[in-house]
Amino acid sequence: MIALTIDCEQWNCPLLEGKKVNENNETSFSKKGNEIILDLLDKYKIKATFFITGYFAEKEPEQVRLIKENGHEIACHGYNHFYRDNKDLDIKQDIVKAKGILEKITGENIKGFRAPQMQYSEKLIEILDDLNFKYDSSLHPCYLPGYYNNLTKPTEIFKPLENCDVIEIPASVSSFRFPISWLFIRLFGINRVIIACKKLLKKNMRPVLYFHSWEFIEMESKYVPFYYNFHTGKSFAKDIEKLIREFKNAPFVPLETLIKI
Ligand SMILES: [Zn+2]
Repeated sequence: MIALTIDCEQWNCPLLEGKKVNENNETSFSKKGNEIILDLLDKYKIKATFFITGYFAEKEPEQVRLIKENGHEIACHGYNHFYRDNKDLDIKQDIVKAKGILEKITGENIKGFRAPQMQYSEKLIEILDDLNFKYDSSLHPCYLPGYYNNLTKPTEIFKPLENCDVIEIPASVSSFRFPISWLFIRLFGINRVIIACKKLLKKNMRPVLYFHSWEFIEMESKYVPFYYNFHTGKSFAKDIEKLIREFKNAPFVPLETLIKI
């Protein structure tokens, strides 16, 4: 089994880079990207998991309903989408707010969570347990300077805390713990990702890949470093289609199916 997971959020990469510009909080990029992703998933009859921010859901409730109607899993990606080094943020309140919005729109319990900027911690797991989440997928078990160093953390599904029921589903990395998701697909090519997935499957591991809705449209922001814009749009969609075709018998499943909850 392979899981494709999509982080759907307001565009605030300029703000994360310290730039306060009008582009921040724009939802139209992710909205347009989702239209392309939904067509692609429908073409191959694949179901995926969408981690959606409460802010995006508030602005685009119709599209959130459409994603659910198409049979995909709706999971929570916080409200604010600014978790890294944000000392002012009350994470629990932020998650409560986002979960409430998503549950109101979908009419169902939201089981899964992914922290903005993959800010995994055991404290986060405790919060998610309190809020009745079943799983978290915020752990990227690799080293990204300035973001996190998770080189000693597990790379397969595990239970982080004895006293919490929340299961952790890490995003997959290659056997050398090199990232194989989002910008690392665009910078280093889909073939490397395909090889890494084949190796994981051979070891009976379940590849979990993630990317962002906005990566499916041609991003041309002048407020972010080149790698946010590089190879986005049609060429990225083509890469993901190549991956899907390569593993057409996988099957592809949402995370709730991957851990059978
Ligand atoms: Zn995000």
